[in-house]
Amino acid sequence: MGLSYRDIGLKVGLEVHRQLNTSHKLFCDCPTDPIESGEKVEYVRRLREAQSELGEVDPAARFEARRARAVVYRADTGNVCLVEMDEEPPHQLNEEALRIALTFARMVGAHPVDEVHVMRKIVIDGSNTTGFQRTCIVATGGSVSIRGKEVPIQTITLEEDAARILEVREDSVVYDLSRLGVPLIEVSTAPVIESPEEALDAAASIGRLLRATQGVKRGIGSVRQDLNISISGGGLIEVKGVQELEEVPKVVEYEVRRLLHLDKVRSELKARGVRAADVLGETERDLTDLLSSSRSRLISSWVVKGGRVMGVRLPGFGGLLGGGDVRLGKELSDYAKAWTGIEGIIHSDELPGYGLTSEEVVAIRTALGAGERDGFAIAVGPERRCREALESVIERAAVATEELPEETRGAKTGGVTIYLRPRPGAARMYPETDVPPTRVTRELLERVEREMPPTLEELAADLGKRYGLSSQLAWELIDTEALEDFRKLLGTGVQPSFVASLLTETMKDLKRSGVRVELIDLQRLNDYLRLIAEGRTAKESAREVLGYLANNPNSSPLEAVQKLGLLAPRLEDVEREVEELVTRLAPKFQDKDPFGPLMGELMRLYRGKVDGAVLSRILREKLKERGVAR
Ligand SMILES: [Zn+2]
Repeated sequence: MGLSYRDIGLKVGLEVHRQLNTSHKLFCDCPTDPIESGEKVEYVRRLREAQSELGEVDPAARFEARRARAVVYRADTGNVCLVEMDEEPPHQLNEEALRIALTFARMVGAHPVDEVHVMRKIVIDGSNTTGFQRTCIVATGGSVSIRGKEVPIQTITLEEDAARILEVREDSVVYDLSRLGVPLIEVSTAPVIESPEEALDAAASIGRLLRATQGVKRGIGSVRQDLNISISGGGLIEVKGVQELEEVPKVVEYEVRRLLHLDKVRSELKARGVRAADVLGETERDLTDLLSSSRSRLISSWVVKGGRVMGVRLPGFGGLLGGGDVRLGKELSDYAKAWTGIEGIIHSDELPGYGLTSEEVVAIRTALGAGERDGFAIAVGPERRCREALESVIERAAVATEELPEETRGAKTGGVTIYLRPRPGAARMYPETDVPPTRVTRELLERVEREMPPTLEELAADLGKRYGLSSQLAWELIDTEALEDFRKLLGTGVQPSFVASLLTETMKDLKRSGVRVELIDLQRLNDYLRLIAEGRTAKESAREVLGYLANNPNSSPLEAVQKLGLLAPRLEDVEREVEELVTRLAPKFQDKDPFGPLMGELMRLYRGKVDGAVLSRILREKLKERGVAR
């Protein structure tokens, strides 16, 4: 890329969402950690298009209503009460959650509001049983600093987490309600971030401060980052649901690449004199008879079932639909797929292909009246779906001649994003009348002040002082969120620095080489460390043992150590072996210290089974007994 991020006017705003580790949910007394009671409920709702008080229909709401799906809710009564099922009004705002949000506000120098007012935000994808999400601003202002730059915080908000999607079917969607109502803190920055690296730094910095409140949940699914991205002359792109921190800069890079590509296509269309009206004037045509004997499996599989093949000309789009990982063709098909659910959309720049021959491509061109400079799109499926899909393609292609539209997109892995839905309009918030406002009293603020947790810097220094950890290891424990596990595992009696490096460096290494370390739970880790503490195996073989435990989730550490042949021999056997070795070899060393060579021999025999320190102690004893130690 020849242009710098500044040249293209890149502006990124971040929204970091994190689950709070409170004892109960935001508006009811259900626990925030799932509990299985065994009693299950299931019920069905149907979504309707929602109008705001002003009578406007929200574009995002219209988008969902157009798909008109039934929503199935599943719940375990251990995690869900009548509030989540929308059968009982919400209770008063959870004060514990409010205190955590105020603690964070204090850390970034934000100003708490006088009164917390709960609002309803329309969300009608079914992820809330009510059709809205409850949200309330707790504080505004403040900032985080990254590499000497202050990134202003706009709002610190508390909101309810949504239900978790379990399954999407043809005409319905299934949600699990246990997560619904878990408190989330949302921290939004001003859109002043100007590069992928800054986005990463800002997200990391906010993440660290959230952890420092000691009130957040950890692990997969507890964090979600949304990014608002724009470049000069383009609409705002909202990317939802970035889970991993490392994905944040990749998403920014991908979006920049995508927007610049679409911008280039737009210029080229303009240069070719293609206008939106030309595109909107096109209509879809039935190509089924023309292609009824095609050997393309995509086409024949539908034709057998009575499906149709339809096509539409895209005037002036020839050669502009394909490309690399970002291409207009993908935009068109993703858009059509999101609006109509159709999978089989092909564009002219990827043909011949999909089993379609060049003769068939020529025939399609002729049938659609598409010249060399024109492109086209084909849809395969039930007739009505095909027509709707191609109308969506026309709609999106027309927009491509004029602008880089505002969109809500979803994050996939590797930074890739995909069209989700239009951006919501402004008419989507209204007051929640069932929850009275909560005053942020002086007593409450004083309590927050009194209970301020130590800063992470203080925490790192304390880890160094208390357990002799290097500063790097201390920070790694903090950043990998392994601190809690570290404290628990100290009870095994193994050296703290070894426990710390096992939880951070060793785990990271194993993960990088594809080992599913998340399958090693704390209990097995604890049992394994006990084996080390008891001298039944040596810490040098930790990587091997952990790898085995990850691959064999039902295996105990003792079994793992036995299977791998890493179980230490009995101490008296080791002592006898050392004694023999000393008797046999020590006389060969007249003038030199025999310790080094003999230790080497012992390590060769017992590496990974007996701790090096133990071997060295026994060897010294035996040498001393024979009077050869110096
Ligand atoms: Zn509840």
